[in-house]
Amino acid sequence: MMTVAFHTLGCKVNQYDSEAMLSEFINAGYQHVAFDEKADIYVINTCIVTHTGERKSFQMIRRAKHNNPNAFIVVAGCLAQRDSEKLLDKGADLVIGNSDRKDIVKHVNEALEAKRAIIKVKDLRHAHFENLSVESYSDKTRAILKIQEGCDRYCTYCIIPYVRGGVRSRSIESIRREAQKLVKNGYREIVLTGIHLSSYGRGQEGISLIDAISAVAEENIERIRLGSLEPCIIDEDFARKLNDIPAVCPQFHLSLQSGSDTVLKRMARCYTTEEYTNSVNILRKYYPDCAITTDVICGFSAETEQEHEESLSFVDSIGFSRVHVFPYSRRSGTAAAKMSEQILKEIKTRRAREMTAVAKKSQDRYAKGFLGKVVSVLFEENTDIGAIGYTPEYLRVEAEGAKQNSIANVKLVEYSKGIFKGVINTEA
Ligand code: SF4
Repeated sequence: MMTVAFHTLGCKVNQYDSEAMLSEFINAGYQHVAFDEKADIYVINTCIVTHTGERKSFQMIRRAKHNNPNAFIVVAGCLAQRDSEKLLDKGADLVIGNSDRKDIVKHVNEALEAKRAIIKVKDLRHAHFENLSVESYSDKTRAILKIQEGCDRYCTYCIIPYVRGGVRSRSIESIRREAQKLVKNGYREIVLTGIHLSSYGRGQEGISLIDAISAVAEENIERIRLGSLEPCIIDEDFARKLNDIPAVCPQFHLSLQSGSDTVLKRMARCYTTEEYTNSVNILRKYYPDCAITTDVICGFSAETEQEHEESLSFVDSIGFSRVHVFPYSRRSGTAAAKMSEQILKEIKTRRAREMTAVAKKSQDRYAKGFLGKVVSVLFEENTDIGAIGYTPEYLRVEAEGAKQNSIANVKLVEYSKGIFKGVINTEA
C-alpha cells in the first residue's frame, strides 16, 4: 500500500485544505503515516503570511527529502501559489496552488506517468469556491468546516489576497451536507472557518453568514465556533441573530491588528479603535461573559513609540481572553513593504514582548473571573488523571475521571499557567 504524509503550516483554512487532500488520498487507497516516517508521498501545505511561515515551509521540503530521498514531494498552499517555479528548483515533484486540491491524486499520477515535475497553479482572481470534503479529522471531537475562501480587502501588510484570490462562498446546501456528515461521524463541535469569514455570501443574492451558521445549527451539532471576524460585521442585528442560535460558542475572534488609530489607517483596516470597542460592547450586551480573542501586530511600518503605547493601552482596556502577538513581517509585494520607514528587528521584538506581557495579564484576569463557576467542558484528549478539554469560551480545563469526547459540567477550582483544574459536578 502506498503511503502519504502531511505537514501543514499556517491557519485553520490550511488545516482544512490538508484534511480534505488527505481524504482524497485515503479514498484512493493510500495509507496515512506521520511526517517523520518514511513515506512514498509527502505533502507540505505551505504558509507565507509571515517570514517564519515561509522559512518553515522550505525547511519542511528539505526534511521530507531527508526522510526519504526517493519520495514524491507535493508542495501545496500559499507558497506554491506564489513561487511555483522556485519550488521545482527546490525539489518539488508537484506544485499545487490554492485550487485543484480535489484532483490532487490525479495530478500526482499524471506527474508520475510523465516522469517529470508539474505545476498546477491557476489564476484565482475569478475562481469559484472549490467544494472540498473531509471524511474524518485527526482530531476526533472538533471538526473544521471551510465555508469561505479569498479576500479582497488588501490590508496594506497582508499577502493573503494575492495568493488566495477574491471572495467566494460555499453554498448553503454544501455546508449543510458537510455538517450532516460530521455530526453523523460523531463530531460535537464544528469550527466555521474562511480566509475572510465576514465576507461570506458577498456577491450572492440573499445569503449571509448568519444563514450559513443557522444551516449548521439545524444539523443538531452541539457547538459551533466561529473563526476570525472583522469588527465591522458586529452590529445589533448580527449579534441578536447570532444569540438566537444556542449552539454558537461565546468566543469571538475579532481581528484588531493595532490599538492605534493612525496605525490602523496605514494598515487600511476598516475600523477605528472606537468602532472596535463598540463591536465588543455589542457582543457583551448579548453574551455578557464572552471571550474576545484577537491578533495584534507590533512594529508595523513607521510605528512610533507613542503609537505602540496607544496599542498597549488599548489592548489592556478591552479585557481580551487571548491575544496572538506577531512582530510585523514585511511581505514583499504588499503596499506596506514599500513604505519607506521600517522598524528595526530588535525594536519589533521588544514591542512584541511588551504586548505579550499585557496580553498575558489580560488573559489571566479574564480566566480568573471563572474560578468557582460550573461550566460545560467538551473533553478532547485523555490524560493520566482524566481528560483535557475546552469550555464554550475556549478556557482549557483538566478534570480527573473525565473521558475524551464527553461533555460534562465541571466546577473550576484552580487556575494556573493557562489551564484550570476542574471537578466534575455530579449534581449538574
Ligand atoms: S482582511 Fe486584511 S488581513 Fe484579513 S486576509 Fe484580508 S487583506 Fe489579509
